[in-house]
Amino acid sequence: MIQQADRPRTNSGRPKTRRTVIRAIFFDLDDTLVDDTISLEQCAEEAARELAHGRGASPVDLGDAYVDAAIDFWTQLGPGSPKPAMGAIRPMMWRAALQRYGIDDEGLAKRLAARFDELRLERVELFPEAVPVLTSLRATYKMAVITNGFAETHERKIAQLELERFFDVVVLAGELEMAKPDPAVFAHAMELVDVGPDQSIMVGDRYDRDIEGAHAAGMRAIWIRCRGEEVPHGARPPEAIIDSIAGLPGALAAIPA
Ligand SMILES: [Mg+2]
Repeated sequence: MIQQADRPRTNSGRPKTRRTVIRAIFFDLDDTLVDDTISLEQCAEEAARELAHGRGASPVDLGDAYVDAAIDFWTQLGPGSPKPAMGAIRPMMWRAALQRYGIDDEGLAKRLAARFDELRLERVELFPEAVPVLTSLRATYKMAVITNGFAETHERKIAQLELERFFDVVVLAGELEMAKPDPAVFAHAMELVDVGPDQSIMVGDRYDRDIEGAHAAGMRAIWIRCRGEEVPHGARPPEAIIDSIAGLPGALAAIPA
């Protein structure tokens, strides 16, 4: 079930300090369950190689410029930011990448966006180590995905990954016109799965979005620290830190109820 309907209500009134057995695990998608960063760079470079040959910028440079434009977009898209028009997001990013090299070509930006999307879908897959982990946890826990995506960019990806094998719910925060770390996103997901914060744990690779947001919603959190960062000075540490999804069963077993 892809959940993208009503604006969420915050889940107030629950006791915050009581700890009970974890009944539900909530997962970030990109770079937690699927390799998004390497795929993004490789597909951007490949699209540029196929379509922007001879336009004055190398495929590597154009691919890098696209990645920068994408990071800028998601960084600037704060909670409550208006959603761009359907179909406009990727061409807009490609236009910015081309303009860095003095190329002003809207048609080329659209073709690059379309090819990039095709390549991304062709290549998307779960981390190999994620499949056995999710399969084993599925027997014990309710499970859901919370991703800062829009239906426009994520529905085919979710279908391709066959996420319904593992998850009760996939929450696309962008469709709620919200984004992690807004705690209302997490509260909405917990309501859909019918668990409280004290029964819930979030697993994700972004400290600022996944871990801080989960804690603000009263959940516990496990950080997949795939880029070697430190917990920000003075910030609340996650309940566990792992290198990849493969470490999740061990981390869950070590967390006291
Ligand atoms: Mg992520």
